[in-house]
Amino acid sequence: MMSDSIAFIDLAAQRRRVGSRMDEAILRVVNHGGYIMGPEVKQFEADLSAFCGAKHVISCANGTDALALVLMAKSVKPGQAILCPSFTFAATAEVVAWLGAVPIFVDCLPETFNMDPASLEFGINTARQLGLKPVGVIPVDLFGQPADYDAIEAICAREDLWILCDAAQSFGASYRGRKLGTIGAATSTSFFPAKPLGCYGDGGAVFTNDDELAAIMRSLRVHGQGSDKYDNVRIGMNGRLDTMQAAVLIEKLKIFPDEIAARDRVAKRYNEMLGDVVAVPVVAEGNTSVWAQYTMRVPNRDALAAALKAKGVPTAIYYPKPLHQQTAYSKFPCAGNGVPVSERLAGEVLSLPMHPYLEEAVQDRIIAAVREALGAETRSQAAE
Ligand SMILES: *Cc1c(COP(=O)(O)O)cnc(C)c1O
Repeated sequence: MMSDSIAFIDLAAQRRRVGSRMDEAILRVVNHGGYIMGPEVKQFEADLSAFCGAKHVISCANGTDALALVLMAKSVKPGQAILCPSFTFAATAEVVAWLGAVPIFVDCLPETFNMDPASLEFGINTARQLGLKPVGVIPVDLFGQPADYDAIEAICAREDLWILCDAAQSFGASYRGRKLGTIGAATSTSFFPAKPLGCYGDGGAVFTNDDELAAIMRSLRVHGQGSDKYDNVRIGMNGRLDTMQAAVLIEKLKIFPDEIAARDRVAKRYNEMLGDVVAVPVVAEGNTSVWAQYTMRVPNRDALAAALKAKGVPTAIYYPKPLHQQTAYSKFPCAGNGVPVSERLAGEVLSLPMHPYLEEAVQDRIIAAVREALGAETRSQAAE
């Protein structure tokens, strides 16, 4: 008998929940015609600011442009080095290379998958040894969990480096009571459909409490325009968020807190029922996670992924190759003695289906499949 297929991320379930409210919001934009920088864009920026506490929110076209807006506003240029993890999505380092600066790859911690502060210190020295000026750090909150900002901030304060938090996967989470969007010089996020807060296309935002930085980024977003629209005062980009996407996001932000709670329930249940057979993800003391991914570590990863696929359970590998091993990025340096944890993790990580609408019965099937594939007894048998 064919079993019902299991979704890795079930956007259709959310679509059913938002239903006609979403249809009406989209239709309002279609009818009022303010497709570019319409009233919903302003409204959404205000809603985001209220949600996370950031003074300034600059919505933009995607999470990559969000990173780029900050680096451009910081006048990043050749001769400079920016430290970022190797174990991340390519966009984090890509924007550094766009501006002719050098990304220096830093290792991560095996438990949280996030930047290792000791490796960051090595990376700063590596930059100087190469004759580059380290100016900033882009920590990434991988899979939904904030990086160790206390440790990173202490290093950056001492070394006079700014911090740009890449919260593409973690927006909605908090670090020791501080909401993401309020940490560092600026924070970027993405509203790509598969992110915890996603729209129906591409979208992104930058958060900052810095008035001057915010004003520069608002100008950069629209081709570097000055107070006179036809006198551009800096080289910018076309980086606006579509009004239609803002309308979608206004509706989705309303249910986001509830969805975050649901994601957390799903993750806790996986942890409880798989913790004895695999290395389940660990959320550090004081952190909350929005669980962009539920990622385990298994030594026999490829065999497990194949066994789960045969049982109809989809999985994904984030990330099979750290950036420093990828064709376009292998020319950039790694911190000090290398990034061995990132290399090891790339061979061990496996992500299970994770979304707020994962029903317990379906999750039970996933859990049973994992346990069976690993040759472990099912929970109920084990409990007998
Ligand atoms: C998704 C993602 C980005 C880029 O966001 P886009 O909206 O796809 O441009 C940047 N950094 C990380 C860590 C991401 O996961």
